[in-house]
Amino acid sequence: MGTLRTAIHALGELVWPRVCLLCDAAMPPEPSPVCLCPACQTALDSDAFSTCSRCASSIGPHVPVSDRCPRCEKENYRFASAQRLGVYDGPLREAVLSMKNPNQEALAETLGLFWGEQSRARLLASKPQLLVPVPLHWRRRWERGYNQSEGLARGMGLALGLPVASWAVRRIRPTPSQTTQTPAERRKNVVGAFAGTRFARVEGLRILLIDDVLTTGATSDAVTEVLLAAGAARVDVAVLAHR
Ligand SMILES: [Zn+2]
Ligand SMILES: [Zn+2]
Repeated sequence: MGTLRTAIHALGELVWPRVCLLCDAAMPPEPSPVCLCPACQTALDSDAFSTCSRCASSIGPHVPVSDRCPRCEKENYRFASAQRLGVYDGPLREAVLSMKNPNQEALAETLGLFWGEQSRARLLASKPQLLVPVPLHWRRRWERGYNQSEGLARGMGLALGLPVASWAVRRIRPTPSQTTQTPAERRKNVVGAFAGTRFARVEGLRILLIDDVLTTGATSDAVTEVLLAAGAARVDVAVLAHR
């Protein structure tokens, strides 16, 4: 019997990671579907700022939340609103960088699950019917082994009980890394980079578009354009981290 118990215990270790997927700290003994330690969970969910409801930027205490903020006043986004889990800093930045490594699907999914549970009311405010992740170009997806936004959306879909449409939109042009570009360059960069697919059954649906990072909003806006052209009723954006 002892051997059997040891074998079952070993199997449990295999299927149930005992370390935090973000910092490798030992997890508390009671099993939880979110594989993040309590310290990481607290740090990830500590957005101290009010945010602009159009672009998810941090805004000062005296700016009306419903209005345009200085960062987006000249933008004409096609998405109805944008929200974030937090600022691109500290553990959230670590999380985004880790997800860029190959095969971090489990981390992306657990972050999506955590995010969905923490921000449930806010994420459901626009009454979304479908989650759509921002697609990667096939070449980058192949290099990375997965799409981090799709992993986030899958975890969030479990938390919110919403379906995920991973193939509604595809990236038809690889876009260079956006980190060294000016906002104008980024906007130009994503023009014509996305297209709808024959799997895009989005007519009349309210969609929540999921991405890991939002900087200028140009990528989210380009995907929103494709979804609206395919008949979506409304697109709102949720990003894990705002830069
Ligand atoms: Zn941790
Ligand atoms: Zn704004």
